[in-house]
Amino acid sequence: KVRVRFAPSPTGPLHIGGARSALFNWLFARRYGGKFIVRIEDTDLERSSRESEENILNSLRWLGLDWDEGIGVGGDNGPYRQTERLAIYSGYAAQLLESGLAYRCYCSEEELAAQREAQLAAGEMVRYTGKCYGLGDEDCARLEAEGRKPVLRFRVPRDKTITIQDVVRGTVNFDCAGIGDFIIVKSDGIPTYNFAVVVDDHLMGINHVIRAEEHLSNTPLQVLLYEALGWEVPEFAHVSLILGKDRSKMSKRHGATSIEQYRELGYLPEALVNFLALLGWSPGTEEEVFTLEQIKEQFSLERVSKSPAVFDLDKLNWLNGNYIRHCSVERLTELALPFLQKEGYLPENVDEPVKEKVRLIVVAVRERLEYMAQINDFADVFFNDPGYGDAEARDILTQDHVPVVLEALKAKLAAWQGDLDEAAARTMLKKLPKELGLGGKKVYQPLRVALTGKISGPDLHYLLPVLGAPGVAARLEKAMA
Ligand code: GLU
Repeated sequence: KVRVRFAPSPTGPLHIGGARSALFNWLFARRYGGKFIVRIEDTDLERSSRESEENILNSLRWLGLDWDEGIGVGGDNGPYRQTERLAIYSGYAAQLLESGLAYRCYCSEEELAAQREAQLAAGEMVRYTGKCYGLGDEDCARLEAEGRKPVLRFRVPRDKTITIQDVVRGTVNFDCAGIGDFIIVKSDGIPTYNFAVVVDDHLMGINHVIRAEEHLSNTPLQVLLYEALGWEVPEFAHVSLILGKDRSKMSKRHGATSIEQYRELGYLPEALVNFLALLGWSPGTEEEVFTLEQIKEQFSLERVSKSPAVFDLDKLNWLNGNYIRHCSVERLTELALPFLQKEGYLPENVDEPVKEKVRLIVVAVRERLEYMAQINDFADVFFNDPGYGDAEARDILTQDHVPVVLEALKAKLAAWQGDLDEAAARTMLKKLPKELGLGGKKVYQPLRVALTGKISGPDLHYLLPVLGAPGVAARLEKAMA
């Protein structure tokens, strides 16, 4: 039975890369009917915060990635926050110490720095050479009397090669000679990542570790610990880095990096999840638009590429625009409201008639939106009276036939009984050219300019109901003045 986990360090918001790791684990668990566990790796006390933890979990929820065990859900293998598991790590640390597989090291920062310098100067590999290995109880007591606090180091076998069969990267060999005895418990008693991750993955029954390529170099250290503790080593799948379009490491220069930022810009979670899935995985066809459900049915680690994934914001925007066009008007309206409110177009409390207007605006502009924040780029003509600052547009209003056109619409509005809804507006507008004996362009272009001050913009049959009959009449008068 597949058991996988996402184990973020809560040192900042959930980023694109982390979200992709979470997604791949989730997909793998769901595809094979396994369990997906979320564990918080908060052993970096200085940099970890509950705020980041909340941000990460909320982003996962927003993306639609649910978990079977972990924070907020519970489960048989808790607690799921590493700082609440310190006693567990201590037990295994003591076991390694007693069996001689780990030892106390009293080297100070200065001594370690000097060692590093010397190794660099001699052109050697920088690593801990094992100076404190073999210290007796008396030595330890003496050093502790000096006020030194020990760390615990794992004794790495010297003549050994660790071979990993990585599901994505294939066979990867690591020579232990280059590793050096590494710290498993810091002097304050807090375990290091490499130690805690092994204990937790084992106790939580994790059998596939799917994570970012940047952890590949940690993997031999972890394998050594599995072996030392007599535990079965899980399968590893290291997913490639995410690069910007210019092939440098993904950073803020390439666009927003946190999931929260995309949410705030009005991206749809299903579009983002679709995009994230394609950062490294491919279905093997040309198809690119998938629901989470569809990806879940096809996902496999065999189709995860070992070459770097390229973060293409244009592609995300294209995908998101695509999802926006297929989204219900109701949902888009709810998403649009906060943006219009923030810009001051709408009050805090929106009543039904105003909502109806927003629905029309959404329908009028959705084809041109890549993400919802852009609605404000199109909102101006609906909410602000035209300034007629555009000379080319103004010229159109000086044509001889224009007053007749504007008057005609005004008269129609005055005579109209009932609501000026979209259907009414369509009917009214459609009849005008014939009634006036003019071509469509000669009618609609001046109307558009009169009502918006611009040559292009939303369809008039959406604009009219949004402005309402009095609003339309006022703008027509302003244009004629
Ligand atoms: N806490 C680690 C990180 O956020 C987890 C790495 C792993 O999946 O083992 O990078």
